[in-house]
Amino acid sequence: MTNYDSSFAREVFENVDYGEEIKMCMQCGVCAASCPLSMQMDYSPRKIFLMIRAGKREEVLNSNAIMLCTSCYSCKVRCPRGIPVIDVMHGLANYAIRQGYVPRKYTATFGSEFWKQIYRLGRIDEKDLSRRYFFSDGFVQGIKNTLEMVDMGITMFLHRRMKPLPERPIKGIKGLRKMLDKAAQMGKGGASAS
Ligand code: SF4
Ligand code: SF4
Repeated sequence: MTNYDSSFAREVFENVDYGEEIKMCMQCGVCAASCPLSMQMDYSPRKIFLMIRAGKREEVLNSNAIMLCTSCYSCKVRCPRGIPVIDVMHGLANYAIRQGYVPRKYTATFGSEFWKQIYRLGRIDEKDLSRRYFFSDGFVQGIKNTLEMVDMGITMFLHRRMKPLPERPIKGIKGLRKMLDKAAQMGKGGASAS
């Protein structure tokens, strides 16, 4: 007989945005069948919800599934119980990061560098973003990553998708930063001045 541990479920209900919605899940599997990324996920949304109730804290917070969600909304519109599956998945990803879990290290690194650029420039400088991302694991790995992507870089330059000179901040960057600071204060944004 399985011994269920409800402590993680309580933690989720109390701390994760939309976490309490999981109580309504009847394990029908419609969300899993609707999710275009379920083949890439280690656990489907349905299984994630079951694991939360079974107390599988480490497995859930380390899962790639909660970081892979692309916000396509298929699960939310099809769930017969009206559970906002997408919001729960994002809530879990946010909670995992706040707890020091980084389920998809490279996604988190990319996201962090992306947000720093938005805060600094109000736009993305592909050259700088790629450099910071490629070299996040050290110089040698950075050279390997760069060589792997060199063809794409050349294509982007040729199609003017990447400019040779550094990008400048957009007009109104101060106003944008104020908005991002406010959003961060409200707990809804990930940007910071760092
Ligand atoms: S579709 Fe809704 S009720 Fe069905 S498994 Fe997914 S979350 Fe649960
Ligand atoms: S919103 Fe996320 S979890 Fe839901 S179906 Fe789309 S990718 Fe899957």
